[in-house]
Amino acid sequence: PSAIVKKLFMKGEMVTVNQEVDFETAEEIALEFNFICEPEEKIDVIAELLKEDEEDPKNLVPRPPVVCVMGHVDHGKTSLLDAIRSTRVTDREAGGITQHIGASVVSINGQKITFLDTPGHEAFTAMRMRGANSTDIAILVVAADDGVMPQTIEAINHAKAAGVEIIVAVNKIDKPSANIEKVKQELSEYELIPEDWGGSTIFCPVSAHTKEGIDNLLEMILLTAEVMELKANPNRNARGLVIEAQLDKGRGAVATVLVQKGTLHVGDSIACGSSYGKVRAMIDDKGQRVKKATPSTPVEILGLNSVPAAGETFVVCDSDKEAKSFADTYISEEKNRLIEDTKAKMSLDDLFSQ
Ligand code: GDP
Ligand code: MG
Repeated sequence: PSAIVKKLFMKGEMVTVNQEVDFETAEEIALEFNFICEPEEKIDVIAELLKEDEEDPKNLVPRPPVVCVMGHVDHGKTSLLDAIRSTRVTDREAGGITQHIGASVVSINGQKITFLDTPGHEAFTAMRMRGANSTDIAILVVAADDGVMPQTIEAINHAKAAGVEIIVAVNKIDKPSANIEKVKQELSEYELIPEDWGGSTIFCPVSAHTKEGIDNLLEMILLTAEVMELKANPNRNARGLVIEAQLDKGRGAVATVLVQKGTLHVGDSIACGSSYGKVRAMIDDKGQRVKKATPSTPVEILGLNSVPAAGETFVVCDSDKEAKSFADTYISEEKNRLIEDTKAKMSLDDLFSQ
């Protein structure tokens, strides 16, 4: 090492022993010692394992849209979700009481919409770390008496970055100070131009309090979904995303997952980040035990050996052994990543202490 440091010094590069140099420099120095340098191939094993096969279009069937709600604090995201769920209460199976599993399915004349409870931007941030996306449509909630606020703009940027369709819900129209036109004006500065102004963004005036406009909003979501032609193959090993997860005293690791492809069954072997296990039971958003879950369905699953992180991808494997080896690979990869991070940090520290 000291010979190399000396060589670099002669070339005018001040480095320490554990500092990283770029490949070109390393190659040059190596040649001077009669070695040929080859760049290290960095393969992301997890990304490889998660890589998707091309899906044959003839296996694809329509699936419900997955929708999240975004917007400035206090503009009515939670109230809107509650209003949507309560207006559709008649559509639910008898006796079904909404259970909090982090997502819910609403059905309108037999057509389903899946709503995620996680505010859109949080969901996007967690998912995007692995390049995954949970949402098809984002409902941007803007209070008609308050207009566009900082978190409204943040939400727009997140939704655009994630490439999701945006539908604007102008909320609180029951308030005397509501000004729908002002909201349209303000949002058109962010390329969200209402249809009646010659643009292509759907604006739905709503009131989470009086429920006015809620049915129209749901119709617009279904219409948008139809145009998007959302499809998935239900006849394959399931895969999807973890929406939320926690450790339950009596039930162990409990994860709410969103099935994105395939059909998830009780008894399936699944791997999910560093967790794995056999699906012991599944519970839907109405609190009912179910045996299978098709694309766009959120379900709570029991049977994982540990609590996975929100945003993690889950995959169904052909055997328990395969699921375990997937999780093991994940753990060793994470370990490598950590070591590399530490190394990089160490050499930077050295640099700054000079
Ligand atoms: P979030 O922070 O976006 O989830 O907003 P919330 O749903 O918690 O609502 C914030 C406040 O606005 C609460 O006091 C709600 O009762 C009120 N609110 C929500 N929707 C409406 C509405 O349609 N009309 C009126 N008048 N108030 C609303
Ligand atoms: Mg809220």
